[in-house]
Amino acid sequence: MLNSIRILSMAMALSVAAHAASLRLESALLAVDVDSSTGRWSLLDKLSGARWPSQDDASPGQAAWLTGEFAEHKVENNNLVRLVSRSGEAVVFEIVENGAALQIRYEDKSAGPIRVLSDALTIDRSDPPEVGCVIVPCREGLLIPADSSKTFKQVFGTSDYEGCHLNMLGLVKGGSAMVVTWDDAYVFAEIEGAGDQSNAQQEQLRTTLELRRSARTVRLMPLGKGDWNTVAAGYRRYAEKKGLAVTLKDKIARQPHVELMLGSSNAKLWTCLDRRMNEESTAEESVNINWTFDEAAKVAEHLRNDLQIDRCLFMIGGWTEGGYDCRHPDNLPANPECGGNEALAGAIERIQKLGYVGCLHDNVQDMYRDAKSWNPAFIEKHPDGSLIQGGRWLGGRAYMVCAPKQLELAKRPQNLPETRRLFAPWSYFIDTTYAVGPRECFDPNHPIGRNDDIAWKIRLSDYARDQFGIFGSECGREWALPHSDFFEGLVGVSGRYYHNLKPEDLGATVIPFFEMVYHDCQICYGKYGYSAEKAAEYVAHHVLCARPLHYHSFGDHLYWQTSADRTQDSKSGDTPDPACYTRCDNGWAEIMLPPKKNTWDVFIKNTHEILGPLHRVTAHQRLNDLKFISSDGTLRQATYGLGKDATVVIVNFASTPADVTTTFGGSVRLPAWGFVVEGPRFAAFYALRWNRQDYDKGALFTMQPTDDRDLTQSASIRIFHGFGPAKLRWRDTVYEVPREQIITPASPQSNSAK
Ligand SMILES: [Zn+2]
Repeated sequence: MLNSIRILSMAMALSVAAHAASLRLESALLAVDVDSSTGRWSLLDKLSGARWPSQDDASPGQAAWLTGEFAEHKVENNNLVRLVSRSGEAVVFEIVENGAALQIRYEDKSAGPIRVLSDALTIDRSDPPEVGCVIVPCREGLLIPADSSKTFKQVFGTSDYEGCHLNMLGLVKGGSAMVVTWDDAYVFAEIEGAGDQSNAQQEQLRTTLELRRSARTVRLMPLGKGDWNTVAAGYRRYAEKKGLAVTLKDKIARQPHVELMLGSSNAKLWTCLDRRMNEESTAEESVNINWTFDEAAKVAEHLRNDLQIDRCLFMIGGWTEGGYDCRHPDNLPANPECGGNEALAGAIERIQKLGYVGCLHDNVQDMYRDAKSWNPAFIEKHPDGSLIQGGRWLGGRAYMVCAPKQLELAKRPQNLPETRRLFAPWSYFIDTTYAVGPRECFDPNHPIGRNDDIAWKIRLSDYARDQFGIFGSECGREWALPHSDFFEGLVGVSGRYYHNLKPEDLGATVIPFFEMVYHDCQICYGKYGYSAEKAAEYVAHHVLCARPLHYHSFGDHLYWQTSADRTQDSKSGDTPDPACYTRCDNGWAEIMLPPKKNTWDVFIKNTHEILGPLHRVTAHQRLNDLKFISSDGTLRQATYGLGKDATVVIVNFASTPADVTTTFGGSVRLPAWGFVVEGPRFAAFYALRWNRQDYDKGALFTMQPTDDRDLTQSASIRIFHGFGPAKLRWRDTVYEVPREQIITPASPQSNSAK
């Protein structure tokens, strides 16, 4: 009886005509106060005491129908309030996620833009007790501080190229953390910095969400006291509930070849056949054969046998009939210039015999006018019916295939099914699918909006993955995590953090936020070529991210047999040396293929020996704690995993040496872009001093137990020495390791030199 009365009273909704009332929605974690006539509101984080906004209250949003007072309001169950305008539109405030989130939803028929949250989420420079920031999940992640004194406005569209690559933003204000999240691809986040160095009180960081078309809902999750680590952990919990956090363990269980991707470098021969067509795709401008398929296999064999690279995702581009980026979607047969079908099948077989994951590069989004299947019916249309053009690539002017048509073309017998039957690569890469932002098409036969585009690309991913086992695409988006295995381009672009975006214009620091949320869920790389001689900061970034590198700038043909030794001399340890990871003085590569050791090969060997094992030991962990050790933020520490399983990475991004203290290394001195890694199964450093041993110009060493014990207990440790003086002190014994050696710490006299 008591229960039924209670249910009755809870079910009773209060509906009254407008007279101003302050309404409160409340859970254990948060409280929301809403003015029933103006819709102005504020959110209290009950765990931290923080209020959003800090002062006054926030508007219910900006749109024509949101001006003026609401006509009526309705409260349900102490967790929902519905404000209705005179013309019948409504704003609904609701506590969701078991009391963890405030959801604001708009009910209107206009589909016009609504701008929300700008006054709720503003962070003032003067917000106590510490400076606030906004975290934007764009590629690895941007930390934009409120006190950068920069004036800027940057829009991060959902899933757009260098937009928001996860459906969220993180905010930290006065030591209190918050996540804002949404589901719809018509949400555009706008971050605005209003800098004024002469008046700190005026400095603000404003965050606005513009909800267009179908986007009508946002969620705010206050997380109590915390920082970016709290934001990442809070969002990860939410992502798990939404089914987005599919782990590498799940992916390996689905397809065992994924295990070979752990600690795997990414080597890509972009253009075996490099054919350049004119704009109209009617005439050849140039044709080059960079590698025959036999040579491609020989490059892989060189990496495995000469450089002893244990794991590799080996990708071949330009295998298609027209050459790289030409005549898509008509790929077959493999072009005869490079050897044809039989030679490509043989190459894939040889590559996979090495234990490498063979992968073919394809593209189903760009179509060229000289393709046999060219048909304007496949192409996206503008509202006036004209064809939507893509970029000007090697094949000429590309036209954008509409997403449902991409899947239709990929499924044709002569596309993915026949490619799999002929060549059987364990992995497939479809370019641009995840890179290009969500698309709109106005062809009446296949109209799509941004959310449809994503839904079709999910189907394409699932299909390609079912065909080949492992699937990856360019850049990387959160919605693709459950439907793919690797992203190429998320970690960096061309040796830099971003392609077009300039973090310095926002006063932002690039942080490995993606690794904090999803390190254990996906294989990720950067994309495009870069110069090894200028890559030290790029390498340092990959060390902090615990991500293997992508090697996309191979010399043509059997490059190692022809190119001269360009290895750099080591510079003084006090001078920043962007080429430091191409050094091999006294190290592993010094005696390699004399006299023609190759800078590119030295760089591959050094960096793979650091990043491959580092990824392998952290692949099932998240970056649980990111710290800025130095006050200027240039000395950074990333801890992957928890407790005794944790691997700690410290990287110096300053141009001058930095000192840190670590368990194995004691007082460690790091040069510019130097690092130290310590964990139970892997340790490494590029340092000027480590464990009481001084290295004048810096030395690179890595340490891995070859038995099943942790480093501290191991009686058999493989030491790799990249460059610098050959002396390494492990515990209290000094070893001389010219290249690579197994040391046996229990009986140091019986070192077995390799
Ligand atoms: Zn269409």
